[in-house]
Formats: sequence, structure tokens, C-alpha cells
Amino acid sequence: MPRAIVALGGNTLLRSGEGTVAEQRERMRETRENLRPLRERDYDVVFTHGNGPQVGNRLLAEEESSGPAEPLDVVGAETQAQVGYLLQGAFGDAFGPDPAVVITRTRVDPDDPAFEDPTKPIGPYYTESEVTEQPFETTEVHRDGGTAYRRVVPSPRPTSVLEIDRIRTLVRDDAGPVICGGGGGVPVVAADDGDGAGENSDTTCFEGVPAVIDKDHTSRLVAEAVDADELLLLTDVDAAYLDYGTEDQRPIGATTPSELRAHLDAGEFAAGSMQPKIEACVDFVEAVGGRAILTSPARLGDALRDEAGTRVTHAE
Ligand code: ADP
Ligand code: MG
Repeated sequence: MPRAIVALGGNTLLRSGEGTVAEQRERMRETRENLRPLRERDYDVVFTHGNGPQVGNRLLAEEESSGPAEPLDVVGAETQAQVGYLLQGAFGDAFGPDPAVVITRTRVDPDDPAFEDPTKPIGPYYTESEVTEQPFETTEVHRDGGTAYRRVVPSPRPTSVLEIDRIRTLVRDDAGPVICGGGGGVPVVAADDGDGAGENSDTTCFEGVPAVIDKDHTSRLVAEAVDADELLLLTDVDAAYLDYGTEDQRPIGATTPSELRAHLDAGEFAAGSMQPKIEACVDFVEAVGGRAILTSPARLGDALRDEAGTRVTHAE
């Protein structure tokens, strides 16, 4: 049976304007039904997922609470558990036995140039006076015709997934679906273990860094490691478009890594949203072969039949 990594984008878990657990459960059940074509074709599935809205809700709640603040890496781990647990409840045994959730850490290079240039806005919106009291870097954003401020963090490229050997062990034929790499995984770097032995210590520990990883890159790393046949990126658009957002926009259907590279070079895809998806598709097909598909959950069945979505394979 084919093995696929299915990356669940933000809107498959929660729609904009929604926030409650009941709403998340409802959206996840809807996603389960949209994924029926995978059940019918007897796919082995590994799910990855985003966590942007969940992290946003947590940071907002923290602003309003007098309790101790939690660092971003801890919030990242918590939201993986939260979304994983809710997906277990919503998916049940639809894709085989009940899914297992692996809280995932993603290694990043501490010298990644992204750390010099935080670009990813996260969490609540602040006014100018509120933002001066915040300990973190912020950026100006447009909101309701005015100016607001948001925290920005770096978005480095993941170099490896720490739990990958364990994930590979779980991903055996018929062993049941695995949920991992949530929110791209918690970004970590190797650290002194704090026992005072410094470089002489025989213990390697990893510690979280305040950054966010794009889940599409992590999904690609997992897909390569478990020898997936397909990388399926599900989001709120039915395909990647050329001239997106203009009157001339047109969907990219069947395509190849080299064609997409040319579009990447031409700047067709927005950084932080469509660009990492396209990069993940290109990297996966170049490294492993197989097929990468970018579409919405509702069009997944059509895309698997080559009738919708952006479908990336090597040229015939
Ligand atoms: P996800 O949570 O699924 O990762 P993102 O918001 O990160 O969602 O990425 C999907 C978004 O990418 C779409 O909603 C769309 O607005 C945006 N996008 C940017 N460039 C393009 C493009 N060229 N074609 C299609 N969508 C694009
Ligand atoms: Mg995204």
C-alpha cells in the first residue's frame, strides 16, 4: 500500500475566527471525511500539522494571565500534544488503528542566518504603548486600517528531526497512523547539559530556541526518512497559482521540480506561506522520486486522480 505524509494546514484544524475546542473538533472531523480517498485506497499515513492559531491563542491567554510566562518552545511542545490529542479523538480508527502522537523536536543550526533576521509574526497584536514593555523583538503590521505590532521570531531551516528513528519504527506496514512534526517540531540546538562539566560532559542535551519552523520543511524531512511514496500538503487553496492574487492567476497542475524551481526563482510564491510548500515538494521529488501534491482537503480525491491540485513528479 502507498505510504503518504499528509501535512494538515492551519485551516484543516481551525478556521480563521474560530478558537474553541468544540470548533477544532468539528473542523478535524470534517477533515477526516475529506480524507476518505486515502482510506479507500488503503494508504499508510503519517500526519504532520501546523499549530499557528493554537500558539497564538496560548500567547494571548498568557498576556491576560498573571501566572508565570512560558517560553515559546514549551508552548510549541504543548500545542503538539493538544492538536495531536484532538486529532486522535477526531480521526479514531478511520485510518487504521488509533493514531500515535510523537512530540517532535527539530534540530536547527544555531548559525542559521535566519536568527539574525526574525521574520515570522506570532501571537497577539499590540498597540505602540503596549509594545514598548515587551521583552521581545516586534514588527509593525497593518491592522484595521491602522498600525499594530506583533512579536517576530526567526524561521530557520530544520536540519534533522531528533525522533526520526523512533518515528521510522512506528511507521511500519499496518502499524497504524502516526502524528508527528506538529508545528514543524520544537526547534532545538545541542546544549551544555548544565552539570558544570561543559565540554567534558558525556551527556548531550538539546534545548529549545525561540523560533518557529515551517511544518512543510519538517514534513519533507519525515517523508524522506520513512521512504514515503507521496507528500500531500493540504491547505486552504486548491493549488499553487502563478500570478496569485491577480486577475491573471492560474493554477499549476501537473509539473516537475525543474519547472517549479524556475517559478521559485521568479518569486511566484510568498515567503512564509506558499514558498516553503513548493520548496518541500521540489526537495522531496528530487530526493526520493514519488509524487508531491498540494491541494485543499476537499479536492484531495480529485488530485489523487490527477484532476486537481498541483502535482509534482519527475518528467515522464
Ligand atoms: P498552511 O497553514 O496550510 O501552511 P499558509 O497560509 O502557510 O497555510 O499557506 C497557504 C497560503 O499561501 C494561501 O492561503 C495563499 O494565500 C498563500 N499563497 C501565497 N502565494 C501563493 C500562490 N502563488 N499560490 C497559491 N497560494 C499562495
Ligand atoms: Mg504554512
